[in-house]
Amino acid sequence: MFSKILIANRGEIALRILRACRELGIKTVAVHSTADADAMHVRLADEAVCIGPPSSRDSYLNVAAILSAATITGAEAIHPGYGFLSENADFAETVEAHGLVFIGPTAEHIRMMGDKITAKTTMLALGVPLVPGSDGELANLEEAHEVASRVGYPVLIKAAAGGGGRGMKVAHSADELSDAWSMARTEARAAFGNDAVYMEKYMDRPRHIELQILGDNHGNVVHFGERDCSLQRRHQKVLEEAGSPAISAEQRDGIGRTATEALARMGYRNAGTLEFLYQDGQFCFIEMNTRLQVEHPITEMVCDVDLVREQIRLAAGEKLGYTQADVTFSGHAIECRINAEDPATFAPCPGTVAVYHPPGGLGVRVDSALYTGYRVPPYYDSMIAKLIVHAPTRAQAIARMQRALDEFVVEGIKTVIPLHRAILEDPGFQSGNYTIHWLEQFMARTH
Ligand code: ADP
Repeated sequence: MFSKILIANRGEIALRILRACRELGIKTVAVHSTADADAMHVRLADEAVCIGPPSSRDSYLNVAAILSAATITGAEAIHPGYGFLSENADFAETVEAHGLVFIGPTAEHIRMMGDKITAKTTMLALGVPLVPGSDGELANLEEAHEVASRVGYPVLIKAAAGGGGRGMKVAHSADELSDAWSMARTEARAAFGNDAVYMEKYMDRPRHIELQILGDNHGNVVHFGERDCSLQRRHQKVLEEAGSPAISAEQRDGIGRTATEALARMGYRNAGTLEFLYQDGQFCFIEMNTRLQVEHPITEMVCDVDLVREQIRLAAGEKLGYTQADVTFSGHAIECRINAEDPATFAPCPGTVAVYHPPGGLGVRVDSALYTGYRVPPYYDSMIAKLIVHAPTRAQAIARMQRALDEFVVEGIKTVIPLHRAILEDPGFQSGNYTIHWLEQFMARTH
């Protein structure tokens, strides 16, 4: 086992990783920008190293500075968290080239899944079903027209290097295809420096269902069931549930078997998530994330597992030590992402937190790096807390989340807590019968 780990991240996830390290008796090194000198992860770490100015490019994405920090402090492994360098294959490779352990999959697997076209062809070859669409990259607009008439409108043009919902455009008819084609490519080039695009059938009422996977370095792979992340705004997740109100235990077992067999054949190691669109009883693979996800705590609650602890153990070469039959599911968990944003316009609202009072009580977990007097910097993601509840049934989890949201006090900055309250009391949400389009329709209705 490692004796010291560097955490190449900030905010709640840096804290989350730090907590797992501490319970394992591992010393931690925090890295931070000048804007984060007062951050909670810096205060709680055993050592902290300033790696640059506020801009992420010069700090949390600054590979040379992060590696120097690891070398100076004698860290043996680096946990990248999510975002920043977590899905950067070159970073993973450089870390290992310096004799350190990257807590995650191999650079080869990160690279493979980072290109969504390669990810899809790989999964198809391993027997995982896909959303109907182009066989690979679209060479030109003519080919886009051909594929669209074969799969049928509406269609979605997606960036091969996509992420965060960018570089994705819908065309409802042949007339709209040319605009969607050029807009998706322009956005992809600007965001990712790569304008390769592919096409998928645009599904009209799917759910976003994803499967949590862990693999060790010895060929063993298990899954920890599904998360339903259908509540999205602009293709970004807002609220997640485990398990999905739409999936039976048999369906979970079925897709779980397909996914774990595929990843075992790939020799996949550490944590990963397979994302699917689910409609009419069919799972269609859309992408794989080769890292810990923001919404991992809901899986931890229903499976009673510490996924970060597992990641660290597996990266140190330990075996899983359990089989699929040992993974059990208990109760229901919900996560609300609390962003520092205006709940009506979603404009980011950085600033000083005048009062911070998180909720508590049975089955309530708050993953956050906030404290009273903390100044939310304007340079980074606006998510400031994750509120997670766990209860024996979905109805009890909803009641518990409503109670916890009512207790949550964040003064001085605006947050999306009022939006979460409105979602939770809506009969449409409560019925569990929603798709990826539900939240935007709900907001159009109520805002
Ligand atoms: P990103 O990596 O940019 O987040 P994803 O491929 O994971 O992109 O898709 C993000 C979201 O976009 C999905 O959760 C879903 O809501 C929507 N989406 C993606 N592909 C399709 C599709 N073929 N049909 C309908 N919606 C889709």
